[in-house]
Amino acid sequence: MFRTAYVNGRYLRAAESAVHIEDRGYQFADGVYEVAAIVGGVLVDSAPHFARLARSLKELDIAWPVSRRALVHIITEVVRRNVIDYGMVYLQITRGVAPRDHAYPKGIRPALVVTAKRLAPQQPELIERGVSVITLPDIRWQRCDIKSVSLLPNVMGKQSAKDAGAYEAWQISADGSVTEGTSTNAWIVDRSGAVVTHPADHAILGGITRESVLKVARAEGIKVAERRFTLKEVFAAREAFLTSTTAAVLPVVSVDGRMIGDGRPGPVTLRLRERYLATLDRQVRTAKGRGS
Ligand code: PLP
Repeated sequence: MFRTAYVNGRYLRAAESAVHIEDRGYQFADGVYEVAAIVGGVLVDSAPHFARLARSLKELDIAWPVSRRALVHIITEVVRRNVIDYGMVYLQITRGVAPRDHAYPKGIRPALVVTAKRLAPQQPELIERGVSVITLPDIRWQRCDIKSVSLLPNVMGKQSAKDAGAYEAWQISADGSVTEGTSTNAWIVDRSGAVVTHPADHAILGGITRESVLKVARAEGIKVAERRFTLKEVFAAREAFLTSTTAAVLPVVSVDGRMIGDGRPGPVTLRLRERYLATLDRQVRTAKGRGS
């Protein structure tokens, strides 16, 4: 739980923080969000998170509620007030408050909420043993590239995974390809040793972690392919894993109850995880003026 939230210009105690009942985010899920990690008190990967936020806002024709500089200041202040060393920032921008009507009035002031909370370190057994996923039909809309707060299929999917004792649900599109998880991107290491993930088109959210892991893999000389892959390929894969800001890189060892590879976290996955975490560490050291 957070202690202090920023809500439309004010820093409020959690219990006092509230938004208007005619906020279009509340009535229509007419808004976007970002989740970024805090490591060592430092906001990591801020540039790509801001770039994705800018893109989501532009696609939905929502204005920036404050300047980017002011937003950085607000995030820093929320992190400071909540005394966060390791955790996450949640930032939500909705179109604003207006009498309920599907079409939106032009020029209303967007609403901004920023919260931050501490996270417990990832449980070592998730990494040592890996996680299981189930699969579900991808019933989402055709603009999953926008980080919209409209997340009902993701909510239903994650709950199904939880009810099944799994960590995540991988969604399968009508053409039979695995698009992504409900809050994570999906990956396999195929028979040729290539690291494969769905292209960053309208069918998935282009994860910031996904981009970093692609970069890390290329730097490591690992073959990468941004292409569609099927569940059949998942079952034949050497390894599988998932990525997100809060999960980092997690090995997936079973899908729909079927073992992937030898059923243990694979070497490529673990190497990518280690190298990815090292990129975060470097950012923290640089931000704290200790260089790399
Ligand atoms: N895919 C979906 C649907 C998500 O909601 C998320 C994160 O929330 C991701 C992928 C991973 O994105 P990121 O690496 O930026 O956290």
